[in-house]
Amino acid sequence: FGNGKAGGGGGLVVPEIKFTKLFINGEFVDAVSGKTFETRDPRTGDVLVHVAEADKADVDLAVKAAREAFEHGKWPRMSGYERGRAMNKLADLVEQHADELAALDGADAGKLLSLGKIIDMPAAAQMLRYYAGAADKIHGESLRVAGKYQGYTLKEPIGVVGVIIPWNFPTMMFFLKVSPALAAGCTIVVKPAEQTPLSALYYAHLAKLAGIPDGVINVVPGFGPTAGAAISSHMDVDSVAFTGSAEIGRTIMEAAARSNLKMVSLELGGKSPMIIFDDADVDMAVHLSTLAIFFNKGEICVAGSRVYVQEGIYDEFVKKAAEAAKNWKVGDPFDAATNMGPQVDKVQFERVLKYIEIGKNEGATLVTGGKPTGDKGYYIEPTIFEDVKEDMTIAQEEIFGPVMSLMKFKTVEEAIEKANCTKYGLAAGIVTKSLDIANKVSRSVKAGTVWVNCYFAFDPDAPFGGYKMSGFGRDQGMVAIDKYLQVKSVITAV
Ligand code: NAD
Repeated sequence: FGNGKAGGGGGLVVPEIKFTKLFINGEFVDAVSGKTFETRDPRTGDVLVHVAEADKADVDLAVKAAREAFEHGKWPRMSGYERGRAMNKLADLVEQHADELAALDGADAGKLLSLGKIIDMPAAAQMLRYYAGAADKIHGESLRVAGKYQGYTLKEPIGVVGVIIPWNFPTMMFFLKVSPALAAGCTIVVKPAEQTPLSALYYAHLAKLAGIPDGVINVVPGFGPTAGAAISSHMDVDSVAFTGSAEIGRTIMEAAARSNLKMVSLELGGKSPMIIFDDADVDMAVHLSTLAIFFNKGEICVAGSRVYVQEGIYDEFVKKAAEAAKNWKVGDPFDAATNMGPQVDKVQFERVLKYIEIGKNEGATLVTGGKPTGDKGYYIEPTIFEDVKEDMTIAQEEIFGPVMSLMKFKTVEEAIEKANCTKYGLAAGIVTKSLDIANKVSRSVKAGTVWVNCYFAFDPDAPFGGYKMSGFGRDQGMVAIDKYLQVKSVITAV
């Protein structure tokens, strides 16, 4: 990575970091308070850079800029085609800067550089292009109004949108929300996670280069209880699109309820089941289920953290899964041979290790892993527990780390019952050769996404979101644009 400097200890490559200030009304600015906060490199725990820290006063300025751009600016008044052109240009710029951006997310979040380049950045560009293509297809309907009237609906942008996102996919989270909001003609205030503010600031810079007018995208890095709460309780924010934990989702709904009753959409946590039937190809099932929990070090809301295996292939599965887990190479995410990088920060690292201890204390059997690894940074071995019972903490709570809980089942009905034995409902995986079983389980499992004989198959056209305490509202798909639109009925006497 050419323009980087050695740093962070151990000769690690650290990308050049160009943008560390708040982005408000098209300019990079210091926080009103002058405060900054540290973002750290999870490979070493060292400080990567200091970033301007937004507070309520900065959020007020960002919302003011977004309001002005919404009420008087060009963006909501442009044709959908023109908005789409600017979004396509932004997609081109994301692609042109993909290496640098993947390195930023790599150093800020511990994400694999190799995957950032081939997954996160292309997916971000694809998301922008999908909604760029939708921008000129947003239209109302004519209505059948009884009597001497005629009626139609208008679809209007909802206004100023607050976006509050987590650290596990800094790039994808940004574009999942920002792309449909831009297509709809909204203006936006984004608060990235305090652990990973860097790429969002870079995207603000690229948006300006792409010709997206000042005030349309504002980025205010800062902490949840200050900057985040200032957005969710703001009287002049019309909608909040949130991804994060169920606990904070509740806090955001409360803040919205107590302020201006703004619209809220919540993409929250998960405890997704991976259900493997006797007729499955065991090697494929092992591949999919280890991928489902160890990809992105388990820091993914749809991680297949509960693995249910039918009794006929259970023993073979456990043996092969343990071998597969040991083959996941844990190490520097900038090393092309690495499969799994470090947990994002010390808090998350300690949290995952605590869950591993709880698993042991509650009587689950550790099959493999279970320990930190490496002499610095926040690395944890790929971990598998068996003899897990549904009521154990590790089967109920979202660990958000590389910890698989294995359970055995006998019948299809039992698998469905156990899969649904959770407060969450984000995703589920099914591995079987039987179409009947696949159909029955897909329809019975309470989850927003079901993957059959695959996992993590994402597409901008596939709506994504949760049942139960995994939230409500959908990202992706044409349906996501509705979150950023108002529908107005116009009835005329004839
Ligand atoms: P988190 O809920 O702690 O934080 C998410 C965001 O909310 C951060 O930007 C944070 O600063 C902000 N925040 C915190 N307190 C706030 C407050 N009082 N008011 C307003 N904003 C506040 O979650 P996290 O630890 O960053 O991320 C992990 C969680 O996110 C997991 O539960 C995971 O499942 C979930 N997640 C869900 C999805 C999904 O699409 N469903 C995707 C990724 C992550």
